[in-house]
Amino acid sequence: SALQNQIAAGEVVERPASVLKELLENSLDAEATRVQVAVDRGGQGLIQVQDDGAGIHPDQLELAVTRHATSKIASSEDLFSLHSFGFRGEALPSIASVSRLRMTSIPTGSDMAAFIEVDGGRVVDQGPAALAGGTRVEVRDLFVNVPARLKFLKTTATEGKRCQDVLCRLALAHLGVHFEYKVGDRVALDLRPATDLRGRLGAIWPPTVIENLLDVDYFRDGHHLQGVISAPHSTQGQADRMLLYVNQRPVQDKLFLRAVRDAYQGRLLNREYPQVALFLQVPPQEVDVNVHPAKSEVRFRDQQGIFALIRRGVVQALEDLET
Ligand code: ADP
Ligand code: MG
Repeated sequence: SALQNQIAAGEVVERPASVLKELLENSLDAEATRVQVAVDRGGQGLIQVQDDGAGIHPDQLELAVTRHATSKIASSEDLFSLHSFGFRGEALPSIASVSRLRMTSIPTGSDMAAFIEVDGGRVVDQGPAALAGGTRVEVRDLFVNVPARLKFLKTTATEGKRCQDVLCRLALAHLGVHFEYKVGDRVALDLRPATDLRGRLGAIWPPTVIENLLDVDYFRDGHHLQGVISAPHSTQGQADRMLLYVNQRPVQDKLFLRAVRDAYQGRLLNREYPQVALFLQVPPQEVDVNVHPAKSEVRFRDQQGIFALIRRGVVQALEDLET
């Protein structure tokens, strides 16, 4: 039922930033090279993502944005397991059940664009449209039909900042893609394709941080830790510049965080934060990224081994500086 969908989505779609993350991942899945984002009122008024990707056929639009029979919520246990978009094809229908969602798209090679509009999970309009290429998704009035969820949102500024963080995190893992981020009419970020991590970080972090970064490049047993970290005492830093990735996916993993902090132990002044963008590459069978995708946590088969590897990789870069 519509109510079940809303309940499920209320669990699944936590806040504007989680909507933006799903839309951006879809654009990247569609192999977009240019992604333009516009956010209004911290994402509660509008979240719009337009890409130049492969597009979607007019016949497939309805299937993409409405919940189909195979993914019905049957029990509260299902609800629990749906706590993130772990299920294929769940994201857009969930978002569409708690907003007014309009999707316009034209598949590569076609000359017929089409749109569909869904309001609170119900299709309210669809038909031909004008669009040069790719896909545009507009999500308006997020959660207006779910007051309980609305109550948990923070200020417009905070929710907007979370949206921008989501974009930056993904942009750092997709250097070749051009991302634009608008807040209202103002271009807040223009991330042109970069040839390396420092190039892209330079458009996101201040020069004082960029100037004092050390490279990390550590191989062991088929694992690779690569990226940049701040030299101790180079800057006071900000707690939110701890960007961690596992197999190119942004994570907020406690073990990863602890390993980095541990490596800096005894090297930092009070209130000084390590500033890092680190990419860990591990064989896929050694990591479970679906433990809690909404919270971006991961579970490694060999937790202690991974901890030691990350710590060692960071320590090595710090020691290189000291000798
Ligand atoms: P999933 O990504 O798990 O397949 P979603 O609900 O996120 O599920 O998207 C549903 C489908 O809609 C996708 O499988 C894809 O076919 C299509 N789609 C969504 N966004 C885009 C996009 N930006 N470009 C092309 N196709 C898209
Ligand atoms: Mg998706």
